[in-house]
Amino acid sequence: MFRAGLSKHGKKTVTLHKTGPQVAQELVACIGCNECLLACPALDEAITIDVLNRETLSGPISTPVAHFARSCFQCGACVAPCPVGLSREAMMMWLKVRLLRTG
Ligand code: SF4
Ligand code: SF4
Repeated sequence: MFRAGLSKHGKKTVTLHKTGPQVAQELVACIGCNECLLACPALDEAITIDVLNRETLSGPISTPVAHFARSCFQCGACVAPCPVGLSREAMMMWLKVRLLRTG
């Protein structure tokens, strides 16, 4: 569960849904069916699952994927349709953090 708050030192803290290795495992387990993106209310341009998965994990983040990451509002609508029980929502949170880190 995503949580944001203040630590005892007054610094803002963020807890991610899943760790990096867990997200990597989910990306490997993804069968590329696209059901998560079909359910997403925030996707406004075509992105292929293979590109999204690759850029979620490592390497450069392309402009369309960066735009999608910024548009994702963590609504969770992408989770229930996944036929193999993965969390695109958690993958997107990971991608958002990566985007912030890479500028
Ligand atoms: S959590 Fe993000 S990617 Fe998933 S459906 Fe909502 S806006 Fe789309
Ligand atoms: S619905 Fe699940 S298996 Fe299908 S592309 Fe999305 S994350 Fe991958």
